[in-house]
Formats: sequence, structure tokens, C-alpha cells
Amino acid sequence: MIPLRLRRWLGGVMIPLPLRRWLGGAGGRLLVRIAGAAALVWLIVLPLAGGASDSTLFTLTLMFTSVAVAVNWNLTGGFTGYVDFGHAVWFGIGAYTTAILMSLQSNGLGIGWPPIPAILLAMAVSGALAAVIGRFTMHLKGPYFSIAMLGTFVAMREVTRTWGGLTGGGVGLTLPPYLNRQVFYYLELLLVVGLVGLTWWLRRTRFGAALVAIREDELGAQMRGIATTRLKVAVFSFAGASTGLFGGLWAYQNTFVDPDIAFVETRTIDAIMGTLLGGLGTVLGPVLGTVGLHWLREVLWTNLLDYHLVAQGVLLILIVLFLPKGIVGFFDARAASLRELWRWGADDSAAPAGGPVQSEGDSARRRRPVEPDRAGAAPSGERTQRTQIVGASSIVKRFGGLTAVDGVDIEVFSGEMVGLIGPNGSGKTTLFDCLSRVHALDNGSIRLGTADITRLSAYQVARLGMARTFQVIRVYRDLTVRENMELSVQWGEVGIRGLFQRTDQATRAKAEQLMDFLMLDSMADEPAGTLSGGQRRLLEIGMALMSNPSLVLLDEATSGINPTLVEDIKDRLVSINVEQGVSFLMVEHNVGFVADLCERVVVLDSGRKLAEGTPRQVMEAPAVIEAYFGAEGRRKPSEDGAGTGAGETP
Ligand code: ADP
Ligand code: MG
Repeated sequence: MIPLRLRRWLGGVMIPLPLRRWLGGAGGRLLVRIAGAAALVWLIVLPLAGGASDSTLFTLTLMFTSVAVAVNWNLTGGFTGYVDFGHAVWFGIGAYTTAILMSLQSNGLGIGWPPIPAILLAMAVSGALAAVIGRFTMHLKGPYFSIAMLGTFVAMREVTRTWGGLTGGGVGLTLPPYLNRQVFYYLELLLVVGLVGLTWWLRRTRFGAALVAIREDELGAQMRGIATTRLKVAVFSFAGASTGLFGGLWAYQNTFVDPDIAFVETRTIDAIMGTLLGGLGTVLGPVLGTVGLHWLREVLWTNLLDYHLVAQGVLLILIVLFLPKGIVGFFDARAASLRELWRWGADDSAAPAGGPVQSEGDSARRRRPVEPDRAGAAPSGERTQRTQIVGASSIVKRFGGLTAVDGVDIEVFSGEMVGLIGPNGSGKTTLFDCLSRVHALDNGSIRLGTADITRLSAYQVARLGMARTFQVIRVYRDLTVRENMELSVQWGEVGIRGLFQRTDQATRAKAEQLMDFLMLDSMADEPAGTLSGGQRRLLEIGMALMSNPSLVLLDEATSGINPTLVEDIKDRLVSINVEQGVSFLMVEHNVGFVADLCERVVVLDSGRKLAEGTPRQVMEAPAVIEAYFGAEGRRKPSEDGAGTGAGETP
């Protein structure tokens, strides 16, 4: 770390104070906008000023095409995290559909279509095919998806080559001559600017945030109510349609297609390289990266002749090594550190604040209850009239030869807090996974409220009011605490319109209130990955509560948390339970915690229910003592929860 005095001196010397403040805030954004606007104006004026030949215009139009393909690739590869090695297939399909429609007459197959309807239909065909293929390939993970798409690409090229009657086979198709380079130049410029604007907007909607959630933790996103398959396929289909549109435009301008120039691997590779160079998963990354790549090609690689492939390889290695977050990430990081520097000079109390330090008084002041806002939440007084929230019977879950959950019945009533304890490996987490519909059941049935959820999927169950936290913490690490919270809304209420809007006022207020309640407000704008383990557990509880659940499953919510914070969590759970009528089913190793909170405890051992009753009853049950202390005993139920009693065999 740089000493404070040096930092102040550096900050003071480098840039005058007012300028520093300006650049660190609105000024920086303004500069980016000015640069963007200048580039646009230049691109608009260029052909009008008569300074550009047809071939320059065509080169630039091809660059717009590459930018568009990269932007589309980034929608699945960058935002959603599905790295597609065959994206150029949509370009080829768009090109071929256009070519086939426009050359029907010369092929003697009918009447040739005019360009605009042909290109629009090509776009629709690409989008529809992408939807169908995405439906099948997008539940593959990681490299399997990438390879499946590469396979799709190769297969489509071969189909085109073989299906000679329609596609002209290896010979290709010739289209009627095109109109005017300038028209296409402006048309594609407009389309590219529109496309970038659209991705910018999309990234700010709930839809965009959900895509990032899918990238970061797809299963977690499902368990929080996001219909991941639908969203993935939708964005994949949109990207396919958009790339198909540019393929159609290209075919028309090129006036000729054959399998080898319509289906080119390098189109995908360029999209990937451009996006990596510019910044994966950023809005401007694919634009800057692709333009940069074109520039490199024009300027450097024409001089390198035979070595340009080597240069390309070296460049890719350099990007991965030195610019892991691309151009955008580089400037972002630098901007952040420059901003720090400016702040050092500007601020007298200079030292950047570390993590939030919570004093006792501070946390007491914060103990403000959250407003009950759940419709139909049972006030504590009415708890005598118990309705069943969740009821599971004869649940069986096997992993190969191991029966992890073996015929367990469990139910939770409204307003109840129920504990689930048992030695490690007794099936508690697996039972939670069964209840939240992550695992297919081998036997048994589950009801949630009045609904039979036995065969529903994770996102549907979340939408019906069951939220959960996880033994292995699942927060979206690259998103801020606030974004994590705002993303965890009740997705069942979002609807199509809500999907394409930003967070609404009510959600924002609710997130604010919960962050305050859970002592996370000072960390609201930090990436969740920077939180301590305890804070992340609190965030998970907050995320679970954001969806107005009727039942929350807590899986070891206090493990790895310091005792003071555990007391805070206890207080908050009680107040949520009492004031909002939220029921809890909690897995805990900290038996004291369970004894304080729960009226009823269920004990599991080797996947079977061993005992059930009040905390005192189960602690005194011989079977439980046997399980904990017996020959197989691994743990002693201890008040502090720390008893992994290896040496405690009696
Ligand atoms: P607990 O949460 O009570 O510690 P778990 O439910 O995590 O126990 O595990 C119960 C048993 O099931 C363990 O023996 C564990 O190894 C096994 N198990 C859990 N998940 C899987 C899985 N995905 N595949 C295979 N075995 C699993
Ligand atoms: Mg577990």
C-alpha cells in the first residue's frame, strides 16, 4: 500500500482538485459520450463528404457486420455465459435464406423475392431455428454446449452443400445485383447503433440482470424463481435472428453465396476475439474489440502477410494474459484506481474506509422491524389456527446405491419455526434439495400450500412462495449487494412487461429496508464477492425474503459466523417470523440456536427420521443420543455448535 502522505501528494500534484472531482464523476461519463458521438458523426459525414470510395464503404459495412455479430455473440457468450463456438451458423442461414428466396426465379423454382421481404424472412427463419436448436442445446453446460454449437455449424454447412436442388450445392447461388453501397452503409450503421442501444437498454432491465444471474449461478437463479430456460432460449433466438439479419444483408451485397463463404468459422472466432479484446459481457466491449481487431488487420497484418495467423494467435494470448477483462475492463479498473487517487487528494480524512465496523450500539439502533407487507401474512396472535405450509411424505432420494433420504415425512405449519438436525451426511441438504425441487424424487410427494409441487421445477416452487438459503453460499458475486437483492424479487409477479423494465420503486424501497435491517446498507454498492462469509449469509437471507416467501429453508445459516452476529441473525429471524408470519425450516449444527428458536425439531440420521418433538424431547430421546454418541457417532450436539467431536467418543 502507498503511504497516506504520498497518496495525498500524488493526488494533489497530478490533477487540480476541481478537475479531479469532475473527472471522477459526471466528467468521465461525459468524455465517453463525446468520444462516442464524435465517432458517430465521423461515420455519418464520411460518405457525404465524398471522401470514401465504394470499396472503403464496403469495408466499413463489413466492419459493422462484424460488430453486430460480436454484439450478438456477446449476448449469449458474455451476458449469459454460454460460449457459442458455432454462432456463425445464423449468419450462414440468414445469408442462404435470403439468397434462396431472391434467386427462386433464376433457379426455376418460382418468383424471386424482392430484397427487403427476403431479408426479413431470413431473420425470422434464423430466429426460429435458433429457438428450436437452443431449446435442445442450452441445457448443456460449458464445453458441451460450445461443441454442440460447433457441430450444428458444421452440420448446417454440409446440409447446404448437399441439398443442391435448393441451395445450389457447392456451386452456390447468384443473386440479382444490389443497389447502392451508400444505402447499405447507412442502413447497417443505423442497425448497429440500434443494436448496441438495445443491448445497453437490455442490460439494465430485469431481463438483462437475470441473464447475468444465469451466468453466475444458473441453479441458484432457478431456485430464486427465474425461468432460466425460457430466458436463455429467448436471448439465443434474438441473437440468432439478429445475426441472420446481417447475414441476409451481406448476401445481398455480396451477390453470391456458397457454403464456404457463407458458413465461415472465422466469423465466430472474430466475434469471440473481438469480444474478449473489448471486454466480455460488457455493452461496449464487442464494439471496441471488433473495431480494434479490424484496425489491427488493416494496419498491421497486411504488412505481416504470411505471419498474420501467428500474429492473431499471439494477440489472443496477450489479451488473455494482460487484458483478462478486455479494453473496457482495463479502463474501468484504471478509472476506479484513478478515482481513488483523486479522492486521496480531495478528501482530508483521506484513508479509504475499510469494511463496515458494527458496534453494539450501532446494531441496536438498527433493530428496526421490516414492515409486514405480505398479503395474508398471519399475525402472531392467530397462530393457533394452523394451516400447513409444506407437507412432504415418504420422500426418497437415491444417489446410485446410496439412499440419501429414505422415506422421510416432514411438515411445516404457518408461522412455525422448525429445526432439522442430524449428523453430517444424514441427508438434510438433500431433503432441502428435494423440497425445493432441485432433485427428481425417487418416491414421495410434496405439497406447498394447496399446490402439489411433486413434479414442478425449482423456479415454479420459488414462485409459489418457498425461498431458501444454501449451505454452500450462492450469491451473485460479480453483482453488487443491491443488485443481488433487487434481482431476488418474486418472479411470479414480474410478467412480460416487468421483465423489460428496470427495478420498480417498491422493490428498491424494499431492498433498501431489508439491507438496513440486515446491517448490509453500508455495503450496498460493493460486489457481493467482497463480503465476509457472515455478511454473505445475511445477504442470502435478505435475498430469500425479497420474494415475499411464506416459507424459508435455511441451510446452516449460522455456520462460520461469529457469535455476536449469530445473535443478531437470531433476533432478525424472530422478528420476521413474528411480524410477517414467515415460516422457517432450518438446518443447524448449532443446537443452542435451534433450541432457542424452534418449537419443533426433526432429527435425521442416515436419511431416516429418527425423532421429532420439542428441542428438549429430542435431545433426551435415546435414539438421538445413540446416533450422536453411539458407535457411529460423529458429533455431539453441543450448545456452541462447534462440536465436531472427533475425540469425544465416550
Ligand atoms: P447433510 O446435509 O445432512 O450433511 P447431505 O444431504 O449433504 O447431508 O448428504 C447426504 C448423503 O448424500 C451424503 O452421504 C452425501 O455424500 C450424499 N450426497 C449428497 N449429494 C449428493 C450428490 N449430488 N451425489 C451423490 N451423493 C450425494
Ligand atoms: Mg448439509
